[in-house]
Amino acid sequence: MEPDSLAKLRQALRTKLNSLEPMLTPAFEREPLLPASVHTSRHRCGKPWCHCANGGDLHEAVRLQIRFEDGHSNRCVSEEEAAFWRPRTDAYRRLRKAARSVRKWQKEVLELLDKIERARRSVEGLSEEDRKRPLR
Ligand SMILES: [Zn+2]
Repeated sequence: MEPDSLAKLRQALRTKLNSLEPMLTPAFEREPLLPASVHTSRHRCGKPWCHCANGGDLHEAVRLQIRFEDGHSNRCVSEEEAAFWRPRTDAYRRLRKAARSVRKWQKEVLELLDKIERARRSVEGLSEEDRKRPLR
């Protein structure tokens, strides 16, 4: 490989390095968090005489879904309660997103390190016989 491509690989590595710090910002936040999400569900209540059964608007409920080690819980909360939980579930979501980004980042950096290793390889000084053997 030409030194030109090695320079490009190093530049790519520097770019990766610079992208790491902003990626980790959520880890420096102080917001308490809860592994949960707040969402609005729309449903039919099941009463045949209700407007929801005849093409009218569905019933809406704000739900807090908490992720426990052994499963989820899903319960209805008021708007006031949702306002309390939302900053915590948002903080959780940001941190999980950061973790996913870092995992992808790590994979890409490892690939770059492999490419840099290949670009810097030299068989100089090896015997004729060893030169014929593929390197690891
Ligand atoms: Zn209904």
